[in-house]
Amino acid sequence: MIWQQLSALLTRLYQPIDRAETLFLQMKNISMMTNQIVFLMLADRIFLSEPKMTCLYTLMFYNVITYCISYIKELIEKEDWSPYVTLTERSKIKHLAMSATKIVLEWTKAITFIVTLTFTLVVFGLEQGLEHYKPSTIYTMTTWIYYSATEKVFVQMFPSMLKFLRLEVFENLEELYAPVILKSFIISVSALFVLILVPVASWRFLLIAIYLNVYLKLRDLLRESGPALKLEREMLNRYRRATPEEIQRFDDICAICLCNMIKARITPCCHLFHADCLRQCLKTSETCPICKTELTFESVSMTR
Ligand SMILES: [Zn+2]
Ligand SMILES: [Zn+2]
Repeated sequence: MIWQQLSALLTRLYQPIDRAETLFLQMKNISMMTNQIVFLMLADRIFLSEPKMTCLYTLMFYNVITYCISYIKELIEKEDWSPYVTLTERSKIKHLAMSATKIVLEWTKAITFIVTLTFTLVVFGLEQGLEHYKPSTIYTMTTWIYYSATEKVFVQMFPSMLKFLRLEVFENLEELYAPVILKSFIISVSALFVLILVPVASWRFLLIAIYLNVYLKLRDLLRESGPALKLEREMLNRYRRATPEEIQRFDDICAICLCNMIKARITPCCHLFHADCLRQCLKTSETCPICKTELTFESVSMTR
């Protein structure tokens, strides 16, 4: 009885903090930057003997590199090179005021890009360096990997990188696996660094680091990315994986996308599909795409 009351009281007390934490996580840019700074501070203390503001310089350089990469990416992916803005998408009437703004904006972006690139080249290429800024190779490698696991530009590229590997184990759920993998990585590396620093660093700093980089990320993982992946996996796991013989007997073509099947899922009506194709179909209707048998949860568990 007392335990129940106590836990109810704790839940009520935690509610405002919970809302503040959610708000903080929703402000993605700020929470991401805080996370990066805290991690860089941890890395400063582990890898560098003289950590004089190295974290801030490093973050600044990484932001510059990210800006350049995202600008180049934009240039590569850009389809419409016309400097004019039209009134509606299909009309040919030019909106001169907007067109002028667009031209100026594009020029500003290009000039900023050139200036940043020159600045970076001067600092790194000519080995001028900055006073007090002496990062070691392992420091740069570790922090860059961590930074790219948190920065939006790279996080958005990660699912396509996973797709490029064509690993069957993901069953085309790369979009959902990617945040889970990245967040698990962030949490474990941060936790490891905090553990290493336990004997030397101040406990206040370590507590802040645990709270921001481990607890809040874990909370995000368990409440957002984790359940989304789990839901899709559960839907797929109702259908068992087909054996290689079954796939061969089935002529190894998926009836939905007409592509070859190396791995497949099998329905209770003994039809084989790619896991992802079946998942997409089940979103619109709960029947087998070939024979239209009901594939509701009850019918599946009955045939098991
Ligand atoms: Zn398919
Ligand atoms: Zn069927």
